[in-house]
Amino acid sequence: MLRRQPLRDTQELLVLFTPRGRLDCVSRISSKRTGLLEPLTCLRVHLRHGRSLAVLEEVSLERTYSGLLTDYDRLHWAGYLLNLWLEAFPGEIENNDAYRLLRLSLDSLDAGLETDWLVSWCELQSMRLLGSAPQFRRCVRCGAEGDLDWFSVEAGGALCSACRGTGARELTPLVREWLLFLQRASLLKLAGAQPQPETVRAGRELLCDWVLYAFPRLHRFLKGDL
Ligand SMILES: [Zn+2]
Repeated sequence: MLRRQPLRDTQELLVLFTPRGRLDCVSRISSKRTGLLEPLTCLRVHLRHGRSLAVLEEVSLERTYSGLLTDYDRLHWAGYLLNLWLEAFPGEIENNDAYRLLRLSLDSLDAGLETDWLVSWCELQSMRLLGSAPQFRRCVRCGAEGDLDWFSVEAGGALCSACRGTGARELTPLVREWLLFLQRASLLKLAGAQPQPETVRAGRELLCDWVLYAFPRLHRFLKGDL
């Protein structure tokens, strides 16, 4: 669950993240009574059709994210991942893979995985699900496999020196390797990675550009990261 907002009487509007996408519903269940309906909790809910919005009938707690709620930095990135998800997968559309990605990412963030690695991983996995992943194996323009030292958001990924044009950013072999690794790694492999901090930082800069090009509204989460 992301958000809770009072409505009239004793009702509240809740924003839920579900395998069927974002779902807004009305609750008459008092949070004081249940103690469950707090933002960033994982719930099992039973809903019924209402006049305009679904109505929450029953709720039970699946898990809380105490590691996120007690660490401002992690809480910030949890908010970012939820908003990235809203931008990338808007509306009520069944998408189990996207839901699973969000759950895995929040679980790992809560468990203490390096935030820069995890956020980069989650961004690349979201783009893969959207079918718009950046291309790092070949030059986007000519298909060459070697000498890929440049990166352009507008072009869609790595570029060779002959195709770089203007505005491309430098892509070192180590950063390209790191981004390729993030694209295909499982979370288990990610947890065992040993990248150099400067490689991670350079990868973040390229991915921030990419994300902001696709979803400019996420600027408020990333501006301190650039
Ligand atoms: Zn080329």
